[in-house]
Amino acid sequence: MLLPDRREFLQLAAVAAPKAKKKQQPPPALPVQWAPRPLFNGAPVLFRSTTLSGSATWLGRKIEFRPADPEGKLFTALAGVDLATKPGRHPLIIGDLTIPVLVQSRLYPVSRIRVDPRFLDPPKELEDRINREREIKKQVFANSPKERLWRGRFAAPSDTRQTSPFGARRTYNGKTRSTHQGLDFAAATGTVIRAANTGIVRIAQPMYFEGGLVVIDHGESIFTLYMHLSEFLVKEGQNIGKGEPIAKSGATGRVTGPHLHFSLLWQGSYLEPATLLRL
Ligand SMILES: [Zn+2]
Repeated sequence: MLLPDRREFLQLAAVAAPKAKKKQQPPPALPVQWAPRPLFNGAPVLFRSTTLSGSATWLGRKIEFRPADPEGKLFTALAGVDLATKPGRHPLIIGDLTIPVLVQSRLYPVSRIRVDPRFLDPPKELEDRINREREIKKQVFANSPKERLWRGRFAAPSDTRQTSPFGARRTYNGKTRSTHQGLDFAAATGTVIRAANTGIVRIAQPMYFEGGLVVIDHGESIFTLYMHLSEFLVKEGQNIGKGEPIAKSGATGRVTGPHLHFSLLWQGSYLEPATLLRL
């Protein structure tokens, strides 16, 4: 008989296993944890720490670990990974600590869209309007309060089905290429749209490309955008709580039909909203 006695083999294995376990040290707990894991380009990221607070540097930008519970036992920072970030280990620098954070590359799909040609090459007489609207957005995005206005989890702005995901590279009418900078929700015109989190309404007005647009400032240069709306239920400057109605959906601006386009902007970078809603 060439095979070892099976019973003996199993006994050996049973004896060996606990020994191997004892030798194995648990990985040292990092002072900062994060989600999602692994991170990927385009992802929002929630850093958490029970020991560290204050300023940190992530991907060359300043972020702030602030108390996330009344007992002061947890500190968080909501940040992101720009879509153009290269895969690899990127440093999170907090105090004199440098923590390498792995970013993986995510491939986003390609989709083809047909829209009214006047949204690709807007008529000359609309140039002033488009420039004016660009300036309004620029001013709003540059003037977020340093304080944190958002609290806890972000909620979906509509309880309807998600259709087109963030990050899809799009060809419009066979030529113009761009990236889909938000997440689309199926929404028949008139569907009530709700604030994803607490904040201040900074924009509630019709725009050429976005159609009816609401922008909520959550502080810390974090904004959520709601597009193609048919009716506003809030005013600019108004404080808004999570889940409160802000508008009704529609088919205004550069669209192929009625839906809600929902975007997340962090320090000038558009990030994947679906991941935000799971953090
Ligand atoms: Zn969209």
